[in-house]
Amino acid sequence: MSKQDHGTKRSFVIQKHDASQLHYDFRLEMSGVLKSWAVPKGPSTDPSEKRLAVEVDDHQLSYADFEGVIPEGEYGAGTVMVWDNGSYQNMREDDMASCHRDGLIEVWLEGEKLRGGYALKRIRGGKKPQWLLIKMNDDAADARRNPVSTEPDSVKTGRNLKTIRQEEGE
Ligand code: MN
Repeated sequence: MSKQDHGTKRSFVIQKHDASQLHYDFRLEMSGVLKSWAVPKGPSTDPSEKRLAVEVDDHQLSYADFEGVIPEGEYGAGTVMVWDNGSYQNMREDDMASCHRDGLIEVWLEGEKLRGGYALKRIRGGKKPQWLLIKMNDDAADARRNPVSTEPDSVKTGRNLKTIRQEEGE
């Protein structure tokens, strides 16, 4: 068991992705890549809300900054917004790779919109493992907040999806 990455700050990003179906890509820097989960309803600040998070392909670290339009015919075609970003710390004793392998991740987020502990729990394996993204009980937990609807715009540029599409689309 390695405690090497305990306390180390790494980056996280949540990209709002208006593809065939709108979803939120939750990405954690881990082992030199962005481990990624597609969350159809987006993250919640309410600990009683369990949000389905489908693990999807790793992305390069440089993708964390991407906001723009993926052309028709390409993987993930649609509009991408940097909805939230910041740093995270591993809250567990095991290193992140072990937590990921074992299907229980707990991270402390310091973002613009999301803060505090979030757990990812794997509920089904297979080609597209299914996890649940759950807000942990702490000072940042708030059942009345709903940042997905009340804070819909980019933390990077302040733009909404429509403006990104107009300015970055072909
Ligand atoms: Mn996506």
